[in-house]
Amino acid sequence: MSDAGAGDLPSPDVSPTPETEKYWAAAAEGRLLVMRCADCDRFYHPPRARCPDCLSENTEWVEASGEGEIYAHSVTRQMGPPYHEATPYVVAYVELEEGPRMLTNVVTDDPEALSVGQSVEVVFHETDDGEYAIPRFRPV
Ligand SMILES: [Zn+2]
Repeated sequence: MSDAGAGDLPSPDVSPTPETEKYWAAAAEGRLLVMRCADCDRFYHPPRARCPDCLSENTEWVEASGEGEIYAHSVTRQMGPPYHEATPYVVAYVELEEGPRMLTNVVTDDPEALSVGQSVEVVFHETDDGEYAIPRFRPV
């Protein structure tokens, strides 16, 4: 499930909560889930029991296409351990096709070539303990 070009980005600690455990279980299987409010039809992320828009609890999990575009991005060139070996790396907001924006990494060998609006697709990078996977994105 990991992908060439994953860079040396260390995996962040994953600590699922009751509101996020389905998200992390799906990611470990290579599927990206977002939540949808059945009352106002809004897709949202990160997962939470109540719709952030209308506060309805009538929400459901939906599998996202994994396609999106770069909404904003930043290249990190200097960072302390354990991220120093991964520099330069890209932190970005990716706007998913379904609408929600995710704070994530864009994995690329050429960070300078990225641009706002560029199409990206999800990739899953297994965590160091092999228990979870981190959704990141790469240029299409
Ligand atoms: Zn709603």
